[in-house]
Amino acid sequence: MRFSDFRLSEPILRALGDLGYETPTAIQEGTIEMLLRDRDVVGQAQTGTGKTAAFMLPILERIDPTHREVQAIVLCPTRELALQVADASRGFAKYLDGVEVVPVYGGAPIREQVDRLARGGQIVVGTPGRVLDLLQRGKLILADARMVVLDEADEMLSMGFIDDVRAILRRAPWGRQTALFSATMPPEIRKLAEEELHSPETVSVTPEVVTVERIEQRMLEVEPRGKLDAIDQILKAEAPRAAIVFARTKIGCQRLADDLERRGHRVRALHGDMGQGARDSVMIAFRARRVPILVATDVASRGLDVSHITHIFNYDLPDEPEVYVHRIGRTGRVGRSGAAISLVTRREQPKLEAILKLTGVPIPTWSAPGTATVAPPAVTAMAVTAADAPAEAGAAPASADETRPRRRRGRRGGRGRSGDQSAPVSG
Ligand code: AMP
Repeated sequence: MRFSDFRLSEPILRALGDLGYETPTAIQEGTIEMLLRDRDVVGQAQTGTGKTAAFMLPILERIDPTHREVQAIVLCPTRELALQVADASRGFAKYLDGVEVVPVYGGAPIREQVDRLARGGQIVVGTPGRVLDLLQRGKLILADARMVVLDEADEMLSMGFIDDVRAILRRAPWGRQTALFSATMPPEIRKLAEEELHSPETVSVTPEVVTVERIEQRMLEVEPRGKLDAIDQILKAEAPRAAIVFARTKIGCQRLADDLERRGHRVRALHGDMGQGARDSVMIAFRARRVPILVATDVASRGLDVSHITHIFNYDLPDEPEVYVHRIGRTGRVGRSGAAISLVTRREQPKLEAILKLTGVPIPTWSAPGTATVAPPAVTAMAVTAADAPAEAGAAPASADETRPRRRRGRRGGRGRSGDQSAPVSG
């Protein structure tokens, strides 16, 4: 598919040509046509997927440049994003005479923005607080707004802007078109979409992130030297039927497999230093369920599609949060549930935070199945204390009175599933 296949006018196509856009990205392919057909759209997509053009091209296509009133408004969580979206829009609008894009955001004098709005502009891109302020002062008028876009809705939610967003939507005309983009879909965002959008078409380009919700995630904070004891203990407690333990390096992978074997686990290593024949035989044994645990590197396990995997263990967290999602997506296939348990050292905290940000789902602390349930202080990464982590104290096995954490409603929506609170993490 090419951009010229959409009903976009020549000046827009020419600008896209200048920008080097040839073929639409997945989110663009899924949403541009829908928006041009006046449908409301929920787009589940992250930054970097091309969502700006996905909503801005249909906006530009329908703007009337001969009128100076605000005809479209885009709400963004941050000033940076608002400026970025406004800049990108100007690039797309380069050959459209008379189209003005006005960014408005907090942390800058309101007067300049008021003056700018007074001169007229068809598209406003702004942060919710400032937009609401301008609306309340009567400096921004949405009476002629035909399109409203909520960009990074989940971020606006987690930054506490959701009430402002709702207040802004109440001031936008009835019968307008609304598009909501969000990387994740916490319950509040689903609710917002249900209440504010009319029979929206949903376009999702991040299926793996969605999968995360079917997977029981747990984490355990450990000292680096306590990792082996911790994984040993977890493997014994969980007794997985089919598991992959991810290690970061080939050497670390082999060493871990050897160590676990010495401790009595039925494991095989799978990494790039092994010959193809050896790798194939490991895979055959794993698929045939003769070997329940693979210790693998990301590269070696690429393309490994086994439907019966019950557990993913992250002995080391990956450098990229997307890789985490990809790893844990190996379990929970075709409607099955799965468990993903990660060991996290203090040094790996930033990686954990990136993962939490990407998935939008809190990760409770792991403790041995079958132990009593008592509410823990919190479940987010930063709130985990040494007391939550048995492996930290030289990795003594979990004692009988150790408590199993209860999942608490997280800041980003606490999408707890029923049975989530006390069920052991075993598949
Ligand atoms: P966005 O997710 O909208 O921030 O876009 C991410 C990056 O991809 C930006 O640098 C865009 O300029 C670029 N981009 C978006 N759509 C396309 C496309 N269809 N072809 C080439 N580059 C694109």
